Amino acid sequence: SIVVTGATGHLGRLVVEALLAADVPADGIAAVVRNKEKAAGLVALGVELRVADYSAPETLKDAFRSGDRVLLVSGSEVGQRVAQHTAVIDAAKAAGVAQLAYTGVLGGPEADFDLAAEHKITEQAILDSGLPYTFLRNGWYTENYTDNLAPVLEHGAVVANAGEGRIASATRADYAAAAAAVLTGEGHLNKAYELSGDTAWSLAEYAAEIARQTGKDIAYSNVPAETHLQILTGAGLPEAFAAILVDVDAAIERGRLAGTTGDLARLTGRPTTPFAETIATALKG
Ligand code: NDP
Repeated sequence: SIVVTGATGHLGRLVVEALLAADVPADGIAAVVRNKEKAAGLVALGVELRVADYSAPETLKDAFRSGDRVLLVSGSEVGQRVAQHTAVIDAAKAAGVAQLAYTGVLGGPEADFDLAAEHKITEQAILDSGLPYTFLRNGWYTENYTDNLAPVLEHGAVVANAGEGRIASATRADYAAAAAAVLTGEGHLNKAYELSGDTAWSLAEYAAEIARQTGKDIAYSNVPAETHLQILTGAGLPEAFAAILVDVDAAIERGRLAGTTGDLARLTGRPTTPFAETIATALKG
């Protein structure tokens, strides 16, 4: 089977849909979920459910079968992920899967920001496992920004500490299509793909595009890291999470998320979704 973990999450669900759209039969797809109740929509699609939690290694024993092609969607619990991913890798190894694809971060071993640390350790653990792998080093989701349009519209400002750094983002659906391509196609074993949007944009351009589409005054407010941290914690974000976002912005300023190799469009066979389109969709929503 083709196995997708994190299938109740945003990306995993889109991968399952992309596999079905690529004519993989539903009974050839297995979804690994930790919460069965959340998986009703997947059941309705006809895919097999395998219930397992990255944090409970014993539950992972039946998650994989010999010959499966597996996508490990990186977990969402920052700080827990090395132990969690290691448990998944061990289970995949014990089962003898044919391919372990992993959603890491743009830059792979070169990514030097805090959020990348767990991805780098995970990639090394996959290499050490000896399993045939495919590294999907995802750049930023455009939705990281467009899911947070409300405060931008309210304050008329995009606030960040990213300077004029550029972001080659793509939509989750774009990354999902790339994942489906490596899980169904041939020639992707023991390869690393640096996935990013075709066009990199700056936050000043992002603010200008929102202004253009809404007719409102929206400015990019580039603030020092310390100020940004205070603004985010003042808005109620936990300090640790705010610090991660500030660190990411600094990485953006250093060009770490500027892509763009074209790997994503090459894998999917179509251009990535322009950020203006994702903004328009979010404004309609
Ligand atoms: P989501 O939070 O929507 O999905 C994460 C998925 O992982 C969920 O299905 C979640 O299960 C599952 N999961 C988390 N912890 C466990 C666990 N202990 N055991 C089993 N399953 C678990 O994130 P997205 O789909 O949007 O993104 C996928 C991943 O990409 C994120 O988890 C994160 O690692 C990374 N990411 C990348 C970003 C980027 O811009 N490139 C931005 C944000 C995250 P459940 O549905 O039960 O919660």
